[in-house]
Amino acid sequence: MPRRKKKSLFTHKKVSKPKFTLGIPTDREWETMQHYACFVVPDEEGNQHSFKIHQTAFILPDGVLPDTSHHPTAYWIGRIKQIRARNEEDVWARVQWYWSPQEVNSVIKSFDVSGCGQYERIMSDYYDYVSTASFCDHATVMRYDERAVDQEEFDSDHFYCRFDLEYRARRILPNVENTACCCGVSYNPDRDPVMHFCPRPACRAAYHQECLTRPDKKLDKIARNRKFIENWPDTDENLSIEDLAGSRPCRKRRKGLKSSVPDPLEQFPETLVRAAQQQIVKGVQAGGVVGNVKAVVAARQLIYCSLLEGSPLPTDWKDKIDVEAAIPPKRKGTPVFVCPQCKNLI
Ligand SMILES: [Zn+2]
Ligand SMILES: [Zn+2]
Repeated sequence: MPRRKKKSLFTHKKVSKPKFTLGIPTDREWETMQHYACFVVPDEEGNQHSFKIHQTAFILPDGVLPDTSHHPTAYWIGRIKQIRARNEEDVWARVQWYWSPQEVNSVIKSFDVSGCGQYERIMSDYYDYVSTASFCDHATVMRYDERAVDQEEFDSDHFYCRFDLEYRARRILPNVENTACCCGVSYNPDRDPVMHFCPRPACRAAYHQECLTRPDKKLDKIARNRKFIENWPDTDENLSIEDLAGSRPCRKRRKGLKSSVPDPLEQFPETLVRAAQQQIVKGVQAGGVVGNVKAVVAARQLIYCSLLEGSPLPTDWKDKIDVEAAIPPKRKGTPVFVCPQCKNLI
């Protein structure tokens, strides 16, 4: 994935006195104010930055100096819902806030900040009127659905949002337990070295490597790789490659003798099979925040569909999987574990 060009947030001219004296509008005054679709904020060098409704922005927190650039995590982040003004100089936005994990913890004590990364934000249903003088650049906050098998990749210094906060109900959605590891702690992309993901529809969860147990039976590499492929993302049934191909495994082959039944995997390109037999992992030492979930799942799905329907691979199969993302470059062999739920190899 191409890395985003790094740029620091723009700075504002030092303002000694606020231009407006009326302060934050009341709800009643807001209703009477003129509507706008966008507003413009000049930076210190005089460049104009335009902000529109539905865009997300960095906002200067109270007491933070406007004329120096700070680390992106030092800013507040909000989504612009409405723009209104008293006059040209006195423009306001109604902002829906993203909260930091620490802010959520201050109202929901059970919300565990140790399971959150520094770039994690929680979308709240809490709104404020914010002067456009406090706006400090555009921001993007990626939606991160940990249960999704097609989650888009993003860099480790990209803001992301896994949860929503219902402020009045003091509730987090979706329930943190739905995505947390079996130990109850969520995946922290800044801290956790290797998380193992089980793609089965009934599992769709990632586990800290240290919370998992090793399989009782030791398998050789070839058998293990087949077991990884057979942990299908499309079914909870334990179907072998031969079951899907409609052929029974030959007993002779199991004993390692020459078999007359061809291996159903032989019909697939080697790179596709290699991608499908990767362990699905993510974490600081395992391919980044979202890891290889999407790529390996896509490879297993292609094999699954083709075997199940007895149809050839789609001609554009290469466009459907990111082989580079699936197969880690020279990573040390990852130990094998069993999924705590479905007991398949992960
Ligand atoms: Zn755990
Ligand atoms: Zn599982």
